[in-house]
Amino acid sequence: MKYAIIIPDGCADWSIESLGGRTPMQAARTPNLDMLAQTGIVGRSQNVPTGMSPGSDVATLGLLGYNPSQYYTGRAPLEAAAQGIELGVHDWAVRCNLVTIERDVMKSFTAGHISSEEATLLIAALNDKMAPDFPVNLQFYSGVSYRNLLVIRDHVPLSVTTQTYPPHDYTGQKIADVVPSGDGSCLLRGLMDASRLIFEGHPVNRQRIKAGKLSATQIWLWGIGQKPQLPLFANRFSATPIHGAMITAVDLLRGIASLIGWEVINVPGITGYVDTDFAAKGKYAAESLKNHDLVCVHVEATDEAGHEGSVEKKVKAMEDIDTFIVPPVLEALKSYGDWRLFVSPDHPTPTAIKTHTSDYVPWLLAGSDIAPSAASAPTYDEETARHSKFRYNKGCKMLGQLFIHK
Ligand SMILES: [Zn+2]
Repeated sequence: MKYAIIIPDGCADWSIESLGGRTPMQAARTPNLDMLAQTGIVGRSQNVPTGMSPGSDVATLGLLGYNPSQYYTGRAPLEAAAQGIELGVHDWAVRCNLVTIERDVMKSFTAGHISSEEATLLIAALNDKMAPDFPVNLQFYSGVSYRNLLVIRDHVPLSVTTQTYPPHDYTGQKIADVVPSGDGSCLLRGLMDASRLIFEGHPVNRQRIKAGKLSATQIWLWGIGQKPQLPLFANRFSATPIHGAMITAVDLLRGIASLIGWEVINVPGITGYVDTDFAAKGKYAAESLKNHDLVCVHVEATDEAGHEGSVEKKVKAMEDIDTFIVPPVLEALKSYGDWRLFVSPDHPTPTAIKTHTSDYVPWLLAGSDIAPSAASAPTYDEETARHSKFRYNKGCKMLGQLFIHK
């Protein structure tokens, strides 16, 4: 038996006036997905537990069958895993943005989209000049642009109740109320304060100011967490091990994949945006079934279109998934005999509000041993899912169904 999971990130939406009251999923021409809906099962799930914020990190854990309430320990440890940074049991990973704060206001959570080259120099300065002055073992890691990481390799009094705040939620706002608070937060605040002195007058900033760009005035620490103890996927749902592979352009998804023991397949030409090479994703996914029992193809384009509020781009991205990813994956699945395919977004990203919600998402399950039934639907979209008897309030309970055979 071969398995495939396709995740059109954030594709679920609301009805839109310019589409004549339809959703982007309804408006998109997706004959392949609709054919699978007619021969399979359509239902819906809520992947984000009540009270948790609907980030892709939380929602994807739920979608992949890991209860976020139990397993989610923060965003930074997942990103650390994506970068291949090993965390010990007592270590803390912390997201370390380079930001611009002027007169105590968050002017830019990206330090004016600082380049990776500039960021690397500033992060090196933190390791050289700041880390030795603190009584705990600190290591800063440069990532892409403003997205960097700090790992605290020591016993420190941080805890799951330590409050930190994502800087992208506070653009243009006073920072006084959103600096880290609670257990051990004085260490985080101390580091943020100390970074100001190191960045002030740093050659990178002097050049940026000269060029009329925003300077990186300090670091912003948030998204803290310890290494999540995720059981390996291989034997989670099945006595015979299921060896999985992940195709994604997004660090968070790479991190989750490597923590659950999936191989991350690198695909040239993928961007995490609507200009991604959909056909390359389809081709590599089909090929990866040669050496794996399961392939998961994550597509970020639909989510990015949602964040932009672009209905057209979302519709087009759904159509591209249907044209370039579904057929080769389906053909490869069938070539090995018995197969199952699961399609589901992690969370909705309604274009009207340009951000994630915790609502139900429509899913589709088809396979060689699944026959058309009352739960089959003429199309795969939010509306047909709403009418299905298959509904999971705890989305993490759904994925196991993929591996249950009567
Ligand atoms: Zn998103």
